[in-house]
This record gives sequence, C-alpha cells and structure tokens, in this order.
Amino acid sequence: MNPLFANLPTSIFAHMSGLAAEHRAINLGQGFPDFGWPDDVLDTAAEALRSGSNQYAPMRGLPELREAVVAHYGKHQGLDISPEEVTVTSGATEALAAAILALVTPGDEVLLFQPLYDAYLPLVRRAGGVPRLVRLMPPDWRITAEALEEAVTERTRLVIFNNPHNPTSRLFGADELQLLADLCIRRDLTILSDEVWEHIVFDGGTLLPLAGLPGMRERTVKVGSAGKIFSLTGWKVGWIVAPPELSLPISKAHQYTTFATPPNLQSAVAYGLGKADAYFDGMRANFAGARDAMAAALGEAGFVTLPAQGSYFVSIDLDQSGIAADDVTFCERAVREAGVAAIPVSAFYDADPATNVVRLCFAKQPETIRAGVERLQAAKALFQ
Ligand code: PMP
Ligand code: GLN
Repeated sequence: MNPLFANLPTSIFAHMSGLAAEHRAINLGQGFPDFGWPDDVLDTAAEALRSGSNQYAPMRGLPELREAVVAHYGKHQGLDISPEEVTVTSGATEALAAAILALVTPGDEVLLFQPLYDAYLPLVRRAGGVPRLVRLMPPDWRITAEALEEAVTERTRLVIFNNPHNPTSRLFGADELQLLADLCIRRDLTILSDEVWEHIVFDGGTLLPLAGLPGMRERTVKVGSAGKIFSLTGWKVGWIVAPPELSLPISKAHQYTTFATPPNLQSAVAYGLGKADAYFDGMRANFAGARDAMAAALGEAGFVTLPAQGSYFVSIDLDQSGIAADDVTFCERAVREAGVAAIPVSAFYDADPATNVVRLCFAKQPETIRAGVERLQAAKALFQ
C-alpha cells in the first residue's frame, strides 16, 4: 500500500456532501449548479446514446470534439491551435493527473499557489514532485514578483496555476499573468494552466488564456472542462491543449489511466462548444444574478463577503462577520446543527492556512439561496 494515498483524508467535497446528505442539509459546499444546463446539449447526448456508437472512443478523443475545441478557443480566446494539440480526458481531474504524471520526474520542484484545488498536491507528490508553495492571502489573494522569486529554484520544472481561481473566485489580472509568463520564460518552465472556469466570469471580465501571451504557447498546458461550461459537472468530459511535444507524453499517461471518454457525451460537448454567443452570455448572466442574490442575502443576514469575479463561489469572512470561530468549526456545526453545508477554505492549504474564510456555492435557484442563507444565519447565531 502506498502511504501517500492511504494517509490522505477524504476530499473536503465528499466529506461535506456526505454530511449534507446525512443531516438533510442544503448543500452549498461542493460546487455544482442546480440549474442552467442547456436542453439541446442533453438532447444531443440522448440521441448519440441511442443512435451513435457506444463502444470505445478514439484514445485522444472524437475528431469532432478535438476540432470543436480548436474552433471554440479560436473564436472565444483568439488561440490558434490544431486538433493534434488536443487530448480529450474524463474530466479536468483526469487531465490534471495525466499532465502531472507525464511532466513531473521524481525530484522536480513544482511551484503551486495555495489555497489550491484539492487534487494538485496529492498528484504532484505521488509523481515524486517536490511542491514549492506560494501563499496567497485574503482579501486580495495577489501574486507578487517577490513571492515567485522566493519559491522558484534551479530545480523548479513546472508551475501549476488556476485562473479563474477556485476557491478564491479571483480572476487574476494581466499584470499577475505577465509576472508568471516572465518567470516561465526566464527559467524555461512549463506551466499547467487549469482554466476550467474560463466561461464563468462576471462584471465584463474575460479570461486571458496564458497560452495567448507572447512566448507562452509552447510552454503552456491548458486544461478545460465541459462540466463547467454546460453546468453538467457529472459528465466528466475535459481536455488538455498542449504543444505536440507535450501533448504526446500527456496522451500516453491518459492512455493508461482511462484510455478514452464516453463517445456520446463527447459528441454532445462537440455540439455544445459550437453554440452561439447568446448561450455563453446568458449562462454568465444567470450565474452573475445568482451571485448577486446570494451576496445580497448574506449581507442582509449580517455576513461580510469577499469579491467573487468568477467560478460558482462566494466566500464569507468570519472575523469581519463577527463570528468567533475558525472555518472548520463553523462548517462542522453549520451542517450538523443548522442544516447547511459549506466548505472551509483552510482545506485548500497545505500549511499556514487562512482560517477565517468559508466558501459557498451560489449556483443555485433563488429558493435554495434563500433557504440556505436563512440556515447560515441560524449557524451564525450558534456563535453569538
Ligand atoms: N480544477 C478546478 C480548479 C476545479 O474547480 C474543478 C472542479 N470544480 C476541477 C479542476 C475538476 O473538473 P472536472 O469536474 O471536470 O474533473
Ligand atoms: N470542483 C468542485 C468544487 O470545487 C468539486 C469537485 C469534486 O467534488 N471533486 O467544489
């Protein structure tokens, strides 16, 4: 048995969703929407299930989906890529695993930013990588040149980055992206850019894909997920876009983990990626409306929230909200005693966590938001 995995805790998402089910709580923890999926994409999948192939898809993905990814990024992000640079995976999680397995050699240092998405560190460690963590802190969560310089060494080979960022909901600015690009070019580093939230951005913000910056295309491995683009998180269809010399080893890692991804879902995603701008604009507007509704309700209930520029999440600051408890204590009592599940942001740190921030998923219908915030108010009263 490998102690690295044997000793890992259950993911905070599974833990909180389990408690939510056990206590019949409203689940504002794990990030999944309860509205917003496009019916025509579901119809296309159903049709493909009945009339299309139900046998193994090509290892690197259906040609129609690889071409749809190329066209989609050409249109929406101005990227000029070819289907040979696209590998379809079973969700972004598998994309991350394949990329990390293929790109990290034991002893390589890997630069990461904490708080970080929960899959990164276990995968890096299992690949033999040595994590070097840059710590981002609330309320700004900003990347600075000094912090990067402190973390990078002669042994650094890979940077793992996430934008828009889960759990902070930050859309990193052009200045911070340029700092990263300068570092990668100067040190000849590869960067794994997890951009799964690329379409869930608000207030007129747009994701600048790292691969679009001068000198970055040849060193950037971009990860995307249909789960986020179509509000279908259970589908687990993702992809990797990387230059051919990186795509090749990454696809070999994919070939010995899942080999291929369900063909019917791939067909439906290929169709969906070609949808008109109105779909993407409408989806963003709906989620922005849900964010505003939750932030307003939280404000009325006496909570102080942090800005949320992208993703499905808004965070509350416990200290500023007058709650004298750390995030884990608040979340554990909230789900058991007030019937509402949330995620403690300290779970996204390896060390020295911020312990005053709690993440809430706002991608919910108005009724869920209203009832969830009422219960959060009851949870707050537990600490008064
Ligand atoms: N990366 C980040 C930053 C995420 O937030 C998520 C899911 N919330 C994933 C990867 C995993 O995506 P998927 O469900 O497609 O595996
Ligand atoms: N990415 C989702 C979140 O941040 C959860 C994914 C999972 O449960 N593994 O909530």
